[in-house]
Amino acid sequence: MKNISVIGSGFSGLSAACFLAKEGHKVSVFEKNQTTGGRARAYTEQGFMFDMGPSWYWMPDIFENFFAQFGKHPSDYYKLVQLDPGFQVIFGKDDVLKVPAGLEDIYELFEQTEKGSAIKLKEFLAEGAFKYRVGMQQLVYKPAFSWLEFASKEVIGGATRLHMFTSMRSYVRRFFKDERLVALMEFPVLFLGAMADKIPALYSLMNYAAFSLGTWYPMGGMAEITKAMTSLADSLGVEINTGCDVKTINVQAGKVYKLETSRGTYNSEGLIATGDYHHMEQHLLQKEFRTYDEVYWNKKTMAPSCLVFYVGVNKRINKLIHHNLFFDASFDDHARAIYKDPHWPEDPLFYVCCPSKTDDSVVPEGMENLFLLVPVAPDMEDTPEIRERYFNIIIKRMESYCNEPLMPNIIYKKSYCINDFKDDYYAYKGNAYGLANTLNQTAVLKPSLRNKKVKNMLYAGQLTVPGPGVPPALISGQLAASQLLNYLNQNR
Ligand SMILES: Cc1cc2nc3c(=O)[nH]c(=O)nc-3n(C[C@H](O)[C@H](O)[C@H](O)COP(=O)(O)OP(=O)(O)OC[C@H]3O[C@@H](n4cnc5c(N)ncnc54)[C@H](O)[C@@H]3O)c2cc1C
Repeated sequence: MKNISVIGSGFSGLSAACFLAKEGHKVSVFEKNQTTGGRARAYTEQGFMFDMGPSWYWMPDIFENFFAQFGKHPSDYYKLVQLDPGFQVIFGKDDVLKVPAGLEDIYELFEQTEKGSAIKLKEFLAEGAFKYRVGMQQLVYKPAFSWLEFASKEVIGGATRLHMFTSMRSYVRRFFKDERLVALMEFPVLFLGAMADKIPALYSLMNYAAFSLGTWYPMGGMAEITKAMTSLADSLGVEINTGCDVKTINVQAGKVYKLETSRGTYNSEGLIATGDYHHMEQHLLQKEFRTYDEVYWNKKTMAPSCLVFYVGVNKRINKLIHHNLFFDASFDDHARAIYKDPHWPEDPLFYVCCPSKTDDSVVPEGMENLFLLVPVAPDMEDTPEIRERYFNIIIKRMESYCNEPLMPNIIYKKSYCINDFKDDYYAYKGNAYGLANTLNQTAVLKPSLRNKKVKNMLYAGQLTVPGPGVPPALISGQLAASQLLNYLNQNR
């Protein structure tokens, strides 16, 4: 039994802590914020419960898989409901695609939008099912230390079907011509932090996840998931220290032996660092123990940051559903403002989550709970004036679509942007979603799970493998824990 430390209590940190504790180690989690959950924290104000980060629950099998390894099921902790429609994409006031939950209904929607596209979608999703199966079984659960890990018969034999070297943009356009269907199919890769022309079409597995596996919601909010993981960690004997900022990782003879924190010094015989990778290396470790330097980080393509508003409205809003994508402006112009020539977008696309459409517990009676998100380039100027300008733009566009005034009914509002990501999570360049999943930042080409100079130290989370997003963060914690366990077993 060793004293193991985990820095960070987001999905990856909690996941790593659970796997290590299950093997009998004494695990301590150190979290600088006052509550667990990391980017998936929540807060309540004036009767509104706001999830601060993720709002899309996709790939339910990954969550089931996680809990199953502890003899549990998500339903032991929270109630999942499938959203129907899953989401809507708003292209204009009277031009909206509502994506239903059932596949047959989705085929019909496609056929109505572009003749002949239902059959194309069937082909697309069949390919997506193959990619999803191979991806989940043979790609994402690998630590990615060497390309050889991926050299299975199915990966090599199916290489052309995995479309690693085809861009998502050209792949989608082989199937669909209608620009709205193209946007609908390209939207899930926005989660991966790059434009569709830079994302390998392997990630069309996300369309399969969205359409075939469904869009779900845990009643009570997304924070129910990290609450469940915190409770699981607790039951496994993990000690969770919130409000505890790790300041220095001390290394001796090539091994971590001590952490200095805002609340004292802790001995450690193994470490998984799940806070922002850049911060863990550049600010907590002495130079000689860092795997990468500033030049390396500066060359990396970060996933976007975002401007978020948590808003309480004192009436119900008819035309919104749970997930609403406002694509009523140029997708390419906005993408350019994020990835090519970073600037605040003139005419932003944005996303509105309205969980009160599904869940009465997140809102006072008769009101609406809104989470508004504009993706923006990382590390830009972030001032109260800029935030306010965008708030006004978004609310005006929502008023126009919803055909009713909203501004006079807003009774609560809080903004969150680049500077908050830096302050709250030490996020490199104020990133929200970590590192973009572009081809040259995939698998072995990502910052490694392993610290190459400190034997008993690993990293996990959205800046390392397998990548950004809730399901990958869960998997990342598991991968790092299993590597640390291997090391500890070999060096008893
Ligand atoms: C606004 C927003 C919306 C999103 N929407 C979705 C979505 O809908 N679906 C989806 O799948 N993904 C979504 N994501 C991405 C997803 O939330 C993240 O990829 C995931 O939560 C990252 O988990 P993590 O464990 O890697 O990092 P984090 O959650 O950031 O956890 C790292 C933790 O480490 C702590 N820490 C850092 N430094 C220190 C230190 N020195 N000492 C102590 N503690 C430290 C931080 O406080 C933090 O709690 C969203 C993200 C954001 C920000």
